[in-house]
Amino acid sequence: MSKLFKRTKILATIGPSTNTAEMIEQIIMAGVNGCRLNCSHGSNEERDQQIKWIREAAAKKGRSVAILQDLQGPKIRLGVLKDNYLDLKVGDEVILESREFEHDGGLTLPVQYNLAEKVKEGEPIFMFDGKIKSEVIEIVSDTAVKVKIMNDGFVMSKKGLNLPETDFGGDILTPKDLSDIEYGAGCDYDYVSLSFVHSAEDILKLKQLLLSYGSTAKVIAKIETKQAISSDEILEEIVRASDGIMVARGDMAVEAGAEVVPMIQRRLIALCRKHAKLCIVATQMMASMVESPEPTRAEVSDVATAVVQGADVVMLSDETANGEYPLETVKEMKKVILYTQNHSKLAPIQRVSEEGEVYPAISNAAARLAEEIEADVIICQTASGVTAATMAGQRPNLPIVTVTSNKRVANQLALLYANSAFVRPYSEDFGFELAQELKASGYLRTKEGAKDLTAVIVSGDRDKIGTDTIKIRKI
Ligand code: PEP
Repeated sequence: MSKLFKRTKILATIGPSTNTAEMIEQIIMAGVNGCRLNCSHGSNEERDQQIKWIREAAAKKGRSVAILQDLQGPKIRLGVLKDNYLDLKVGDEVILESREFEHDGGLTLPVQYNLAEKVKEGEPIFMFDGKIKSEVIEIVSDTAVKVKIMNDGFVMSKKGLNLPETDFGGDILTPKDLSDIEYGAGCDYDYVSLSFVHSAEDILKLKQLLLSYGSTAKVIAKIETKQAISSDEILEEIVRASDGIMVARGDMAVEAGAEVVPMIQRRLIALCRKHAKLCIVATQMMASMVESPEPTRAEVSDVATAVVQGADVVMLSDETANGEYPLETVKEMKKVILYTQNHSKLAPIQRVSEEGEVYPAISNAAARLAEEIEADVIICQTASGVTAATMAGQRPNLPIVTVTSNKRVANQLALLYANSAFVRPYSEDFGFELAQELKASGYLRTKEGAKDLTAVIVSGDRDKIGTDTIKIRKI
């Protein structure tokens, strides 16, 4: 049975290449478990339409699909340039101006953020994914800074700027983020991710805001700044404050150097497992498939490595947003995940629960029991999803079927390692009727030639201490 289930999930970014009901349905049918809607591009109206298409496709497939709203954060971008392009030479002195104006082809460039409020002389500013390096030489006015260009190259309209040394002073949510958060809280989002997180404070602030708007979305910290990875303590505090993290390898490489990325990826996956948080590995996983129908050997190996390390999710960005082969990319990624998971075994973590916590201890015991008796499936009954999250943290080598009465929780669980969630009203006991429902809906499949399957069931009485029971059943 476990061979049929993708334990590491696929999150696909929606963009021009997938911006129709048909394409969204096709990629979901091909194995996408969650869709990322990027607030850096497109309008609220476009995202509303995409949410509707995703929900319709998920209903058609009869499976939950997560939707993630990706906030831009202080991702500072250039504005529109004349002819969309400008050559720069080493030694050029360029003004970055946040007031609105039309670029005339000269060296005063529009930027979508007031850098003058944050930067100091001597700080580096990287443009266009680090292709152009510059240094602040003067704060020219309340809205403009002057930088000196350090290498020859070119920039294009709307390309990003990175400021690895700049202190944003605990204030990373931009006016655009605040408006996206307010609007998004009224939309059907399961997750909200925040770009350029510097500290746990940023995440707590976002959680407060979401709560104040009545949102039930979970929060993902995108790890991509030098500050976030500057110490083990800061990194762990961010993981603890968040519901999950994204290893945002693109900007991380620009900010901290590409060579640090693989080790940070490993560290983050381990931290997420320890704290039962969601871990997404993102960026350039199958980048060559933007233009080619086949991935490179290195890309296949990159996806397989994330699976072997125990990532909950591997993400597609440009591949599904702007690529020529979005559907082929999803299929290739799924193939790599399935082969790798079926030829590698993740060791369960030897987690000793902190301060006598029940959930991780029960999950640890259930995972060991399932392994010992060679069970086919672990079934979790959960209201909040916490049991399922701690169970996923164990990275069992078999599927976790979660039964919950809460649709939002089910959508959120769609991204969790090995999880698939079945929505039905809460019932205290796991009876014959529920087993039949799960079977009929395709959540439980017996091995070829087998008459029944063995399930380890983790459940509890909601009015007492929550999850408190482990049972074994033949179904
Ligand atoms: C990244 O930088 O790797 C990333 C995922 O962020 P974005 O695509 O939003 O720039």
